[in-house]
Amino acid sequence: MNYDSLTGLINAKGFLNALEKFLIRAKANHQLGAVVVINPISFKSINEAFGIEVGNRMFKLIAERIKNILFKYDILAKLESDRFGIILKDLKHEEDILFAVSKILSELTKPYKIDSNEIYLSFNIGLALYPRDATDANGLLHKAEVALADAKNKGENAIGFFKQNFANKAAKMIKLRSDLELAIKNSEFIDYYQPYVDSNKHIIGAEALIRWKRGKKIIPPMEFIPYLEHSNKIIDVEDSFLEKVLKFINKLKSDKVEPVPISVNLSTKSLSQRDLTQKVLSKMDFYNIYPLYLKLEIIERAFMENPDHLRNLVQTFKDKGISFSVDDFGTGYSSLSYLATLPVDYVKIDISFVRNIASKATESVVKSIIFLTKELRIKTIAEGVETDEQFEILKNMGCDYFQGYKFYKPMPQKEFESLLKNRQP
Ligand code: C2E
Ligand code: CA
Ligand code: CA
Repeated sequence: MNYDSLTGLINAKGFLNALEKFLIRAKANHQLGAVVVINPISFKSINEAFGIEVGNRMFKLIAERIKNILFKYDILAKLESDRFGIILKDLKHEEDILFAVSKILSELTKPYKIDSNEIYLSFNIGLALYPRDATDANGLLHKAEVALADAKNKGENAIGFFKQNFANKAAKMIKLRSDLELAIKNSEFIDYYQPYVDSNKHIIGAEALIRWKRGKKIIPPMEFIPYLEHSNKIIDVEDSFLEKVLKFINKLKSDKVEPVPISVNLSTKSLSQRDLTQKVLSKMDFYNIYPLYLKLEIIERAFMENPDHLRNLVQTFKDKGISFSVDDFGTGYSSLSYLATLPVDYVKIDISFVRNIASKATESVVKSIIFLTKELRIKTIAEGVETDEQFEILKNMGCDYFQGYKFYKPMPQKEFESLLKNRQP
């Protein structure tokens, strides 16, 4: 009884039920989703001009065209009056909704051949995103209706959004993604380096940080790494980034500059490659790099997702003389006792602790991290040290190394090389 008799699709009531079910799963699995409401414009005049029977056939054709575009698990319903409702499940990125909806719109606006007639139709589409616009079924449907009203104001074949700035942002994201594909092809990624120092402010090592050189602009990793991580492209990008870093360490030697250990960040995708150890070792061999000059950084959360695999991986690298740091430590809520089981050499205290180091609660957390790591013979590096006060407090707590704008900002390879060249021994 939750079905529409004409199209055989579920009706408004069935739609809300299905939406509720989807939301339960989406919440548990952190999925993105969207509710789309589609409304043919002036359908009444079709009924008047060609008769109800033609109108009904057109309705079925519209439903079929939409269905052909959707994935099997998406849901199409016939809502009240002449509206269709769609639940798009499992969008990878929010802006994917634009691809989906423009595809639907371009299919629906193609002519409908009925008997000897070619009939053209216009539409309005409203959409709302889960969880951006609402998190419950009624709320989402309501916001999609509000967005539909917005589309109607814009005119024929317009797409309406609940949040106006979303459309611009989404269009920018889509452009970024296609530029990113080109960036990979043209190798537009470059290496910056940020030194870290000991309590006497002597440079002990540096972290290699990736940048995207897009024309004259230098784009920070937070704006593109998440996209690469969604696809498997991050693996190739990190692979060639590592190569760049090793080539640089090799260049330092031929320029007669004493190198320091360089840390490279690895994403969980890269860490899951079966042949990672082999790949890294053969590159090191090729560029003739001592293991002590390369360190690898993994975020704490990665360890929690796949503890056994990573423990073995870290051990394998350690046996070859390459050490690991646990990055962003304190943000992943892993237990300190888990740390004891990991053969890592460094823990990087997350920037959020350093920022709040003057507060009592944060101070005691950081103190216990430093206490425990000392027991385990793990060195601590504080990230994002910006002020004298932060430096003093952390130094007094016994933190080993310090990285942050107070000492050095990330800098291009050339600048870093001349810094190393001119430093006091
Ligand atoms: P991260 O590994 O935590 O790197 C440290 C980030 O903190 C860097 O940002 C650095 O510029 C910034 N930072 C350093 N000192 C300070 C400070 O005193 N104040 C403030 N506010 N920030 C400071 P960046 O270079 O933008 O990198 C951001 C993140 O991008 C990195 O965070 C890392 O997770 C990721 N990333 C960078 N390169 C790679 C890479 O090759 N692979 C992967 N998977 N991720 C990378
Ligand atoms: Ca890092
Ligand atoms: Ca970090």
